[in-house]
Amino acid sequence: MEHLSRTDVAVIGGGLAGLTTAAYLARAGRSVLVLEKAGQFGGRAITTEQSGFLFNRGIHAFYQTGPGEAVLHELDVPYSATSSGRSMYEAHYKDGIEPLPLNAETIRTSRLLNDQARAELTRLLIGLKQSDTTRWQGISIQDWLEQSTTQPVVRRFFEAAVRLAMYTHAPELIDAGFALHLITTQPPALRINGGWQTLVNGLAQVARTAGANLQTGARVTAVEVGEQAHLVYLADGKTIEATTVVLATEPAVAARLVAHGQHALLRKLAEQTIPVYAACLDIGIRPLPDPQRSVVLHFERPLFYSVHSRDSDLAPAGGALIHVVKYLRPNEKSDAQADRREMEEWLDRLQPGWRNVVVAQQYLPHMQVTGDMLQARRKGLAGRPEPAIPNVRNLYIVGDWVGQEDYLANASFASARQASQLILANVPVQQ
Ligand SMILES: Cc1cc2nc3c(=O)[nH]c(=O)nc-3n(C[C@H](O)[C@H](O)[C@H](O)COP(=O)(O)OP(=O)(O)OC[C@H]3O[C@@H](n4cnc5c(N)ncnc54)[C@H](O)[C@@H]3O)c2cc1C
Repeated sequence: MEHLSRTDVAVIGGGLAGLTTAAYLARAGRSVLVLEKAGQFGGRAITTEQSGFLFNRGIHAFYQTGPGEAVLHELDVPYSATSSGRSMYEAHYKDGIEPLPLNAETIRTSRLLNDQARAELTRLLIGLKQSDTTRWQGISIQDWLEQSTTQPVVRRFFEAAVRLAMYTHAPELIDAGFALHLITTQPPALRINGGWQTLVNGLAQVARTAGANLQTGARVTAVEVGEQAHLVYLADGKTIEATTVVLATEPAVAARLVAHGQHALLRKLAEQTIPVYAACLDIGIRPLPDPQRSVVLHFERPLFYSVHSRDSDLAPAGGALIHVVKYLRPNEKSDAQADRREMEEWLDRLQPGWRNVVVAQQYLPHMQVTGDMLQARRKGLAGRPEPAIPNVRNLYIVGDWVGQEDYLANASFASARQASQLILANVPVQQ
């Protein structure tokens, strides 16, 4: 690696949040250095190819109408995507697989619902649409369900929908405010053609073109905060002096890097997070045994199935890319082999004969989906930290656990944009 002793901004971590920050700041004329420990950029948004199938790091949908779309537009990052129509969603309940009752027509005709359940689900969905869901901030989904539902199948519907929206299986912990907002607004879930690597490459290209220096294989071991500038230490022995440091890593890493892991606020922030994990089984298959079966939510187990290649170019001609995900309970040890068996056996039911036509596969038993769930105890979005670290000049955090906007990658994009704006307002360009 070229020796670099000084930069305006050192960004630690080259995932979506780090690259977005770099792109904004380089475009505004700052000298920016991105330090990524892995051999490639992208973090959890990496896509790899096997036999023509494009595997994201587990199932990924880009939620449209959130801050991510605006950020990519502002930065002129090109991408194309298709939306999965929710009309093809099904529910697996009591051994039956039926259309998911989501709108007036499917609720009226669904064989999953009796008359009382039909009335209750309609009343709740209409009521939520007409209300401001932030009023449920600070209440757990479990408490909301206890107050709001009497019909077991309606409760199962909401539990499954919340797992899908929030990527985790913890109704007693999840904040109802944002979860119910997502269920009510149903933002289009886009499948990105070419996989999420398209976004990573696009952001890296924008940052590089604007003059940012992007380094892979650059693992940061420590950050020493100073009054005028900070020192960033790398595993290869180099030291970089930076006016501003942006920590674009998961919370525990950010806390470990600064002040030998003794920075009180960063430690507190990391300790209060509840990272969300999922087991992901991704299968490239040719042909798809049942082409009609596209998306299924399990109402009684924390499982979800989707054929993401259906309307996007993630599989070669004649092939299909299937995702099965098991939403894990936070803070509980999972059993990778048992989880895989459970997902494969479910696939036997959904796509009989799939085992004979597998072309490529990827099993990720314990992927961190987000650095922090939206917790009722911390009032959901309102409880997440701001990007600027108080009482330390020019030290920022960005990522999907930061800022008061949105969830998952949308939060990474939004916090990166917010941090960039703060940095540009605070720190003059160095001569
Ligand atoms: C299975 C799964 C499904 C998902 N589904 C969705 C979805 O449907 N919709 C959605 O919006 N989001 C989804 N996400 C979340 C989305 O992928 C993340 O929110 C987003 O990619 C996070 O980007 P980031 O830059 O904040 O963090 P990361 O991608 O984690 O980037 C952090 C980077 O920091 C680097 N790093 C760490 N330590 C150091 C160090 N010491 N020195 C240098 N570099 C370091 C890491 O290597 C990494 O590249 C999903 C994630 C997973 C895993």
